Amino acid sequence: MSIALLLFCFYKLRYLGPNPLTTDNLVTLSESPSAVHELALYKTLEPGELNQRIAAVRELLGDSLLILGHHYQQDEVIEHSDLRGDSYKLSQMAAESKACKTIVFCGVHFMAETADILANHPDKVQQRDGRRVSVLLPDLAAGCSMADMAAIAQVEAAWADMSEVIDTEQVIPVTYVNSAASLKAFCGRHGGIVCTSSNAKAVIEWAFERGQRVFFFPDQHLGRNTALELEIEESEMPVWDPYALDLGGNTEEAIHASRVILWKGHCSVHQMFRPEHVESLRTQHPGIKILVHPECPRSVNDLADVSGSTGKIIDTVQNSPAGTKWAIGTELHLVNRLKAEHPEQEIHFLSPVVCMCATMYRIDLPHLCWTLENLRDGSVVNEINVDAETGKWSLIALERMLAVH
Ligand code: SF4
Repeated sequence: MSIALLLFCFYKLRYLGPNPLTTDNLVTLSESPSAVHELALYKTLEPGELNQRIAAVRELLGDSLLILGHHYQQDEVIEHSDLRGDSYKLSQMAAESKACKTIVFCGVHFMAETADILANHPDKVQQRDGRRVSVLLPDLAAGCSMADMAAIAQVEAAWADMSEVIDTEQVIPVTYVNSAASLKAFCGRHGGIVCTSSNAKAVIEWAFERGQRVFFFPDQHLGRNTALELEIEESEMPVWDPYALDLGGNTEEAIHASRVILWKGHCSVHQMFRPEHVESLRTQHPGIKILVHPECPRSVNDLADVSGSTGKIIDTVQNSPAGTKWAIGTELHLVNRLKAEHPEQEIHFLSPVVCMCATMYRIDLPHLCWTLENLRDGSVVNEINVDAETGKWSLIALERMLAVH
């Protein structure tokens, strides 16, 4: 290899990380030509036939199969799910099943990884007499734009860079559950922890009991909105840009003055809600309340009447009296489902443009039917397998989270 090529490879790994996982290159990586051909045939089938065939496999496999449907999933897929919920709760619930042999996760890649880690926890495997559970993702291209914004090589490079100006023994890494297993394992190895959108505040408090600073990734908005609740000033939260050459684009002084170092990542869905959407709905519908997810930017979160996790959004609507008017800033499929389930309330989508999780939307009836019929025929497709070392350290970070109250 020439010196120039070696230097290029070093630069690419050090500063750029792996190629962003676009849906197209994931399809190329994940699906063999025969799978692409089979899927093309499934795509020609009518929804009615696909529904019947999916139902037939579910009946045949019974309790040995668990289909998990994330709240942001489209209705036609959700209808076939045994359990519906957010990513972490789904994985926890699935891990409790004694009869389950296969989990089909209708969500995105990091969710299937978490399900694999929890369902194949050593204690659970022992309870099943050594039997592991297979976790399948019907379309391997169902990634998460936010999770893909923090590659492990980039996070490790950032950690090494910051260790040149601050004592990283005093930095507690916190990763949002919406991240690759490799990042959860990084947190496990470095005294860090995982958080969800419902426990982020308690987790950051836990971190400050153990260190002087928090390194929060991959979602800057959840990190910022939560730290603000803890009365940390925005000036104490530098944003680390993995594509900047020096200290993530920050001065040494800013890193020294930091309390929470935020990774420059975001959710492509929640990032699209704007303060002008809030103002417009308040003008058009006097008395309307704004309910948003904390993955929204601060400029929207600060204007909301209620901000909270997917679970909190659902509970808030469920517990509100008839006639309440809501504008909700989260994924479109969930808002439309809440609208259908609560006709006694007036529910609006916060944005005038469609904000849906396009990668999750890749899981459709043809992919689900293809996955299930292969399983029925003894062929396991699209299995997500977290390697033992990554699984072990990820579990440590997840278990630290479970111990936080
Ligand atoms: S909604 Fe955002 S954070 Fe959730 S899976 Fe989709 S891209 Fe990722």
